[in-house]
Amino acid sequence: MERGKLLIIGFGPGSEQHMTFRAKEAILESDSIIGYSTYVDLIRPLITKQEIVRTGMTEEVSRAQEAVRQAETGKKVAVISSGDSGVYGMAGLVYEVLIEKGWQEETGVEVEIIPGISAINSCGSLLGAPIMHDACTISLSDHLTPWELIKKRVDAAAQADFVIALYNPRSGKRTKQIVETQKILLNYRSPNTPVGLVKSAYREREHIVITDLAHMLNHEIGMLTTVIIGNNSTFIYDGKMITPRGYQRKYTLNGSDQQLKPHERLKREAEPWALHGGMEEERGEVERPLSSRMLAEEALQKLNIETKVSDKATHEKDVVFQQEDIFEFAVSPGIANKKLTPLQMMTLAEAVGEEADLEYTPDHVIKVSVKTANPNKITKRLSDVGLLLLPIGDVVNIKACDFCDGEKAESIPQVEELGQRIGGMTVPKQLNIGFNGCGMACYGAPTNDIGIIYRKKGFDLFLGAKTTGRNAHVGQLVAEGVEQERIVDLVVKVVNDYKARGLPNERFHKFFKRVQEIEGFHYREVPEQVVVDMVCGD
Ligand code: SAH
Repeated sequence: MERGKLLIIGFGPGSEQHMTFRAKEAILESDSIIGYSTYVDLIRPLITKQEIVRTGMTEEVSRAQEAVRQAETGKKVAVISSGDSGVYGMAGLVYEVLIEKGWQEETGVEVEIIPGISAINSCGSLLGAPIMHDACTISLSDHLTPWELIKKRVDAAAQADFVIALYNPRSGKRTKQIVETQKILLNYRSPNTPVGLVKSAYREREHIVITDLAHMLNHEIGMLTTVIIGNNSTFIYDGKMITPRGYQRKYTLNGSDQQLKPHERLKREAEPWALHGGMEEERGEVERPLSSRMLAEEALQKLNIETKVSDKATHEKDVVFQQEDIFEFAVSPGIANKKLTPLQMMTLAEAVGEEADLEYTPDHVIKVSVKTANPNKITKRLSDVGLLLLPIGDVVNIKACDFCDGEKAESIPQVEELGQRIGGMTVPKQLNIGFNGCGMACYGAPTNDIGIIYRKKGFDLFLGAKTTGRNAHVGQLVAEGVEQERIVDLVVKVVNDYKARGLPNERFHKFFKRVQEIEGFHYREVPEQVVVDMVCGD
């Protein structure tokens, strides 16, 4: 008699295109097919001559026993599971039945396990890229596992910031588990954590919903749904759920968290754990492998057990995992004030700590880049000593002179109002507004994207300077003697127009040239540049 064979097949989510070549081949090779009725129907187009043994959903053990029995008569028996047969599928059960019978690989029936795409992957692909990082699957079915243990696993996975794929989330009778699970998750994750619900992935009735932890139960969740819960870094972009490869995020004042841009990522300093092959740089020359103990210690350092959740998060429970993101902002003594006090300097150093990066910029501010889980603590200390904090990036940046140490103070109210109304506003590209308190303009207002000079008769307005490059030029004088009551509104309108019509990354002078007219001010061609032989720099 020929030795029988068990082909334990994971046929993937349900469509033929997402089944492996070997899975199809194995179905064709088999003499009989054993599986839950719905699954047999899903692979029906592939069935030729095989005998079919259908069973109900809960008859998994008898299905496994029947498969072993048939194989022992010398048949090739296909046991089918959806997804992967090793993930809440038939593979383990079949082995258990074999072991009970004293099966040995050498002498017993042959066993081949054929892997398939599990729901975590098929559903993940339909949501975007939610898995990406450390993830786990948890089945909420307490049919074979005590509910107390499942709860513990949910708790542990939530604490450890795993992306979680919930299988068997709910059925007609089992409705409480998903509700309790949501409660546990909310102990550790923000209510706006992205959540994806995928029903019948790659099947006829496929249905995809992207929601969040707070609202997930407002949607239909059933036996054919997989629920994917994002981690602390998962975000939604254009209807897609994405978990970045690394955890580091960057943000500035009053801006929402931003992932590092692709060119900033995968650098050792930004993502020390990523793609460096576990190698550590030593004195900048030799690389030696990091031991797993060192990696574990580094990971432990990142788990800040005592601390409470940062004010940034919206919930207030204790958390074990605390993410330190890169917080970037600029500090200055004030819009007009240029003097830093020793107390301010000392407080700055103490608040941001030794590891922070401080950079003095051409815009007369100190740019701070610091890793922290608690940005509010830093900003509060700095504001308390009278420092002005400004967002950085593609925002409106207002640069004023010192108004001759405050002696020429007439126009300070206007610059302050401008600061309150549009300072830090997001625009297509960083926009500098230069504001000078007298005709001397010793802080060079016309060399900014927008320049404003106060003279006794009113305000002069310059638009569209090009501040860098060999063809740098000052802005065009578009208005003279604008009245006090009008100047702020006028500049706000110009900036709003740029915000509305500017293309992403388009500098203000290019925008002015392209649109030709802003708030009634017409663009004038800049005269041809005189080519000058460079004296230095070659
Ligand atoms: N072996 C399967 C899992 C079986 S448990 C696998 O690896 O995917 C059954 C659960 O799997 C369902 O309750 C659902 O949560 C999930 N599942 C399986 N196929 C799915 C599909 N096509 N779409 C969505 N969820 C699916």
